[in-house]
Amino acid sequence: MTAAYDELMDYDEVLEKFEPVMGMEVHVELATETKMFSASSAHFGAEPNSNVDPVSLGLPGALPVVNAKGVEWAIKIGLALNCEIAESSRFARKNYFYPDQPKNYQISQYDEPIAYNGYLDVVLEDGTEWRVEIERAHMEEDTGKLTHLGGADGRIHGATSSLVDCNRAGIPLIEIVTKPIIGAGKRAPEVAKAYVSALRDLVKALGVSDARMDQGSMRVDSNVSLNRIGETEFGTRTETKNINSLKSVEQAVRYEMMRQAAVIEAGGEIIQETRHYQEADGSTTSGRIKETAEDYRYFNDPDLPPVIAPREWVEEIRATLPELPWVRKARIQEEWKLSDAEMRDLVNAGALELIIATVEQGTTSGEARSWWVSYLAQKANEAGVELEALHITPAQVARVVALINEGKLTNKLARQAVDGVLADEGDVDEVIAKRGLEVVRDDGAIEAAVDEALAANPDIVEKYKAGNTKVVGAIVGQVMKATRGKADPGQVNQLIAKKLNS
Ligand code: ADP
Ligand code: MG
Repeated sequence: MTAAYDELMDYDEVLEKFEPVMGMEVHVELATETKMFSASSAHFGAEPNSNVDPVSLGLPGALPVVNAKGVEWAIKIGLALNCEIAESSRFARKNYFYPDQPKNYQISQYDEPIAYNGYLDVVLEDGTEWRVEIERAHMEEDTGKLTHLGGADGRIHGATSSLVDCNRAGIPLIEIVTKPIIGAGKRAPEVAKAYVSALRDLVKALGVSDARMDQGSMRVDSNVSLNRIGETEFGTRTETKNINSLKSVEQAVRYEMMRQAAVIEAGGEIIQETRHYQEADGSTTSGRIKETAEDYRYFNDPDLPPVIAPREWVEEIRATLPELPWVRKARIQEEWKLSDAEMRDLVNAGALELIIATVEQGTTSGEARSWWVSYLAQKANEAGVELEALHITPAQVARVVALINEGKLTNKLARQAVDGVLADEGDVDEVIAKRGLEVVRDDGAIEAAVDEALAANPDIVEKYKAGNTKVVGAIVGQVMKATRGKADPGQVNQLIAKKLNS
């Protein structure tokens, strides 16, 4: 881990002097059954080098065959991003040596991408819409994976040997590249995050990728440059890689703005390079000097014919597009009768999908909302994790709600049951059994506790009979204590009133 020694300019000062320009390159791994150019399984998690074949190993004479599903899903993504779909597009070889890429070139698309000229409207935290223009979405193949041994935390630096796993080599990738994003100013980091978040929701909704940034099935490179306010020419950009959460997307852009501003202000020059995002301190560190397109010696892959996408096929694919996330969001907001601000809070808290899933398990939207955005949000906050990382499923939340509605749990017991689930003590019913949380239904036991409390407090009984009915709370409290919180307070109240009024 290299600590950051960079000089940084204060963020507000950056904005007084400079205008940021961004460009996002997002790689999405498609969840197809097989690889992009061969029949090996594209599933994650197999024994190293078991999902391989002559094509993905780049053996001499092996010939690639295009995966039709991969093309179909590329078109699907292109359509959802409002792109034009090329009637004919081409695969090209991007030549470079890297040990995880046995062919010495990556099959990609260059000057004839399958989808181009689109846009994605994203919603910022305060509800404003921002249109991100899409330059292109093209098809390519993933590389293999290197594991470095002997160095610190699996890094190549200091390693004594490296292992190559080609299982990932040839898995279909779609690279989605934005046009330069200009004019975002102060909001540039927020726009970047909102864009990646919207894109992730989109490909998940399309069912073409699980888009897990933490597992690498969605990978983000963020390009940032600065130019002095008033200047129209773009500054030199850096491209930050290795960003594996939405929060980090935001931080990487912000950090580069502050770092580049300090360099330029001190009379230095920004080098066009790749940089690595450092999760530990939110900095970026220098990578390699950026190749230019010429370095890759792109040329059309002679092994692969052009990809032809007849208009009827494109229209057929368009007809299979599911309800897109923003349409679904609007529909749900309407159904649940939420204000824009309420809806935004749910989305910003990362609670929307969890609430939808909880409602699907039989709760009302109000019940699901109240759990996810209050008690569970608080627990996630305390643990410093995202809501969805909590160890509780929507089905378990729905079970707790059902038990409350059946009168088997009070709100307080329900929270304890949830605590148990979060602590991995088992599912809801197991926790209730283990912790002995169920409401005491036994009238006899509650009645005995009530009688005892009344007998022990003649003064309170007297006050009550004299008309001060509020004092009954103290009796309820004692009964709850005697039953260790397991009595239903409503039932206790009724019993006390019955006894005192008789
Ligand atoms: P490469 O693969 O060489 O990084 P791409 O064209 O695939 O190039 O991606 C470059 C990304 O950076 C695009 O999103 C583009 O809009 C953006 N970009 C281009 N010039 C600049 C610049 N000066 N500052 C910030 N972003 C830029
Ligand atoms: Mg690129």
